[in-house]
Amino acid sequence: MAPRASEAILAQFQLYVENKAQLLICTSPDCGYALSVARSQLTSHLREKHQIPETNRRLITRHLTQHYPEGFRDPAEATPLEDGLPACPVLRILKGYSCCACPYRTVNWQCLTRHVSHVHLDGQSTTQGRLESRFHRVYLQSWTYKARGSEQQYWIVRLNGKLSREDDPIASAHLRAVHERELQCVSQSINAPKRQEALDSSDIAFYGPWMERTKWNTTYDVASRPLLQTLASIPKHQSRLEALQLPSNSENPTASMLISAKDHKRKITAILPVVDIILDQYEETIQQTGYRLLQWLRSNSLDSCYPRPFKLVGRAASRRRYRRTFKQFLTFIFRSFQLPSTIGHERTRLHFTEAQTAALREVWDHKA
Ligand SMILES: [Zn+2]
Ligand SMILES: [Zn+2]
Repeated sequence: MAPRASEAILAQFQLYVENKAQLLICTSPDCGYALSVARSQLTSHLREKHQIPETNRRLITRHLTQHYPEGFRDPAEATPLEDGLPACPVLRILKGYSCCACPYRTVNWQCLTRHVSHVHLDGQSTTQGRLESRFHRVYLQSWTYKARGSEQQYWIVRLNGKLSREDDPIASAHLRAVHERELQCVSQSINAPKRQEALDSSDIAFYGPWMERTKWNTTYDVASRPLLQTLASIPKHQSRLEALQLPSNSENPTASMLISAKDHKRKITAILPVVDIILDQYEETIQQTGYRLLQWLRSNSLDSCYPRPFKLVGRAASRRRYRRTFKQFLTFIFRSFQLPSTIGHERTRLHFTEAQTAALREVWDHKA
């Protein structure tokens, strides 16, 4: 059979042979990646993803065995193409990011910010300002759909003659909006000295994607940030018996008298170990729960369970960090609860409902 005729047969089933790389590509608009042909993976793909009936699946397999006796390579082991080539029409085109300082590429924004923070910023958080000059928005292609157990390999492609998607209308509109907001914040903090405390110059750099999503900057707009930070600081053991001086408010000198008393600190220090006791019990429950139930626990759906079970965090450091955040939250809540209600609400923007107040009081007044 002439190569052209063979191509036409495969094209009927949206398959394409990339001869140089020795890969079999599924060109369906949903796929656009090379298929692994090991064991029955090709047949499963054709059946499950494209509902190709058995007679046709047999025909395809026979055709491939006859015409490509050397077989195909595992896509995960294929060498990525060179950067800068025009996009390959049979592979999907992904909107991704490439690091300016190393060959790292990803299609995931979170992975990019994590990479920049860990590898290039010594673990500092990646604010919009710090990030912006450290990556390029690019179009990427890859042989694989998802690399198994290894880093997905991408190469940068040229689309409509361009290597960068910086002028992508959606991305640039988003970027413009972020810049405009930042400018607005700068001018507001200059023009409104009374808000200086809530929004000092470091806050501008503080506007990362997390802030945009949570809108905490709006919720706690006029709250005192130094006060919020102090309220959330876990008492240190060595200073267990010292009183905590809360940051003062320049507009209201009497508020500088706010003091979180020694006694408060002692109580909070006594409450926090309870977090470990409770979470230890939860962990024990999880360890004794059956596999099936844990699969259900991880599922988002009412009528099917997740293929893998719910798992506790693996690393001891992550476990400590999660617990610490929870303890910080409790410290914050109990300290805020002890502030005089008028000053507390005015400077922290926190308001407890009646039920919450009753529950907090019960814990606070409990005689151990
Ligand atoms: Zn496919
Ligand atoms: Zn990098």
